Formats: sequence, structure tokens, C-alpha cells
Amino acid sequence: MPLDLLLLGLPGAGKGTQAKRLVAEHGIPQISTGDMLRDAIASGSELGERVRPTLDAGELVPDQLMVDLIRERVSRPDTESGFVLDGFPRTIAQAEALDEMLRELGRTLSAVLELQLDEGEAVRRLLGRAAEEGRSDDAPDVVRNRMRVYREQTESLGAYYLAQGKLVGVDAVGAVEQVAAEIERVLDQVEARR
Ligand code: AMP
Repeated sequence: MPLDLLLLGLPGAGKGTQAKRLVAEHGIPQISTGDMLRDAIASGSELGERVRPTLDAGELVPDQLMVDLIRERVSRPDTESGFVLDGFPRTIAQAEALDEMLRELGRTLSAVLELQLDEGEAVRRLLGRAAEEGRSDDAPDVVRNRMRVYREQTESLGAYYLAQGKLVGVDAVGAVEQVAAEIERVLDQVEARR
């Protein structure tokens, strides 16, 4: 059975960082919708031009567009032994569409890892990243909006996956290595169940 993982958590929780470690450790591809959209913007494609103002404002790109992007990506052959999704789904409608498309493909999420930290710490990390990486949506007013959008549209995904018995909380406050070690412990249990 493929190892199909989903990382949830506030912007700044470390989803991208931990997803990249999972790629290295488990040989499954990272599917990051944020990276996909930033690549589209960088390439100057029509899609990129369409979504740029939304990313710059820290708002969400429309569900249908995201679902179409993910459907195409998840269907590629490199996901055969699994994937780690980072940044999708961000709304209940996206989560339902994901469940449906995985069902059509005859697979299901192995586990949903929620990287937990408080909003103050998440904001501090993002503002640090703004200084380092210069991501345009890490500017202070956009960061505040991304936190609001998370609370209003994404936070409830925790309850959605809890109801499915898939949610596992991971303390995301410590060092990258510590969080990674906790994730590996969780995955040992997931593997044992599979
Ligand atoms: P991220 O790198 O995951 O923080 O995503 C950066 C930005 O891309 C978000 O603030 C949204 O504007 C957009 N985005 C990424 N993933 C999604 C998604 N699943 N649904 C809607 N918008 C998204």
C-alpha cells in the first residue's frame, strides 16, 4: 500500500521543511501547492498571472483550480509508492474532493499529521523567513491575513480528519530534528497498522 501522507498546520509550522525530510527519508514526492503556484508565477505562465494577486494578498486560490491541479499531480506515476501533501487541502471542499479523487484511484490517506504550534510562534517564524527568503507573502500585514484565513477556512480540517480517525498531532515547537523524530515515531505506528 502506498504511503499517502498529509501535513496540516499553520503557515510557519514547518510543513515544507518536514515534507522535504519525508521525501529524503521515504522516497515519496512532496506535493506542495504553494510551491506549484510560486513556480507558475515565476515562469510567467497564464496560471501564474491569474493567481499572483491572490498569493500576494494571502488569500486562497479558488477550490476548483486547486482541485484540478492536484488531480493532475496525484495521477502522475511518481506517486505510485506514496506522496506527502503540504498546503492542500486548505478548505473542507478541497478535503472532500481529495477523498473522492483518492477513492477513484483506489487509495486513501495513510495518516494526517497536524504540526502544532501557537500562532505567535508561527508569526515569529514567518517574519524571520521574510528576512531570509524574501517571500512576498511573508510581509507582516500579509502574514496576519494568512493567519486569519487559516482560522476561518483551514483550521476545521483537524476535526474533519479526526472524525475519520486519521489525525495525529505532532508538537512542532522544537528543533527541526526533534519534530522529524516525532514524525518518524508516528510513521512507525502507521506502518505497523498497514
Ligand atoms: P503555502 O506555501 O502553502 O503557504 O501557500 C502560499 C499561498 O498559495 C497561499 O497563501 C495561497 O494563496 C496559495 N495556496 C496554496 N495552497 C493552496 C490551496 N490548497 N488552496 C488555496 N490556495 C492555496
